[in-house]
Amino acid sequence: MNECDCSSPSGALALKSLEQALDLLLAQARPVTGTEQASISGALGRILAETQFSRISMPPWDNSAMDGYAVRTSDLATVGTRLRVSQRIPAGVSAGPLEPGTAARIFTGAPLPDGADAVVIQEQCQREGAQVIVAKLPPPGANIRRAGEDTRQGQEVLPAGTRLGPQHLGLLASVGIASLTVFRRLKVALFSSGDELVMPGESLAPGQIYNSNEFTLEGLLRNLGCDLVKLGIVADTFEATCAALQQAAAEADLIITSGGVSVGEEDHIKPAVEKLGSLDLWKIAIRPGKPLAFGHIDDTPLIGTPGNPVSLFVTHCLLARPFILKLQGVAGSVTPTALTAPVDFDWPKPDTRREFARARLALDNQGEARISIYPSRSSGVLRSLAWANGLAVLPECTPLKEGDRVQFLPFHELLS
Ligand code: AMP
Ligand code: MG
Repeated sequence: MNECDCSSPSGALALKSLEQALDLLLAQARPVTGTEQASISGALGRILAETQFSRISMPPWDNSAMDGYAVRTSDLATVGTRLRVSQRIPAGVSAGPLEPGTAARIFTGAPLPDGADAVVIQEQCQREGAQVIVAKLPPPGANIRRAGEDTRQGQEVLPAGTRLGPQHLGLLASVGIASLTVFRRLKVALFSSGDELVMPGESLAPGQIYNSNEFTLEGLLRNLGCDLVKLGIVADTFEATCAALQQAAAEADLIITSGGVSVGEEDHIKPAVEKLGSLDLWKIAIRPGKPLAFGHIDDTPLIGTPGNPVSLFVTHCLLARPFILKLQGVAGSVTPTALTAPVDFDWPKPDTRREFARARLALDNQGEARISIYPSRSSGVLRSLAWANGLAVLPECTPLKEGDRVQFLPFHELLS
């Protein structure tokens, strides 16, 4: 029998759904307004602050898509027509018009001569001295790239709010844009709460563990192109937590903390933020990662993530990342796109919370995509994240049978 009881007030109804939490967060995200100039080679990962328009058409003129012969199709009555080769047009030259009744030797990317209306690819021609025999008749327009086929002069190239990837940089370069106005980088302060934490490289005394969250978080934030204010390990005292929060609020646009967000005596994020600003402690119906602190110190927002390493990771991917993207000035969707695939396991006892299981999408022997999940559900097991290539979304209160389809969030959607 399944233990799930979503109607119980102590169950899912007492919690916020992921969607509710995300809506609340995003409604409070105020994007940075400061901008700076960046060269296109320095703009990877930056957010475009101004919509870009093209001053040229691309291609600027009709040109050949292949190596071959430019012709007038009206000169080609039958297969085997013989034409004199009247000019040679390599890429990078300016071509004269095509003499009627002749062909022009032409190469990929070279401008189409006036009068030509097709290119016959060289494999379909036979060259004999100064003449070419056309073995296959091209339809008008064959193998021609038209002027403006990619971008027309005056056309929008990319809208403000685009997060610039290599493909965007190439497009901008293709229309001659060399420098751009981008939003300034978001400055994020981070620290890890916990008296048990020591840094890798030091030796462990009894009761201590290494601070792994700082490195996970640093990597997650660097992947998003944030500037970091690293405040290290903060002791589990109210005073130390207040001091770290004050410094973070003074120096950064956003504060992200790890640990200390529960309501135990050793958890100081809540009282400290409440003293310095305002805070909500949300319980979100996701697993792992239930508690999340969201607040402000002066105007600086704060996201307090759980200390459990996997909870921190999942919370970051699902909640902090969209918030950060919006703060950075990204326009349009900031949430990841899931794909769906069948699971290779039975899941008879679903949780009342939606479970984001560490999962691996791989092809089975028949070449079909299948989702497997890591055997341990413990939110302390970091090895599971290194094993996984994404998170499987196991719906709340829904038993699954092998072969049922669920959503899968690939890490490339969550980590970049
Ligand atoms: P907390 O949220 O502070 O109650 O911590 C929950 C669990 O996560 C505890 O087992 C902590 O020892 C562990 N933890 C907290 N912070 C870190 C960290 N920075 N690196 C690794 N584990 C941590
Ligand atoms: Mg702690």
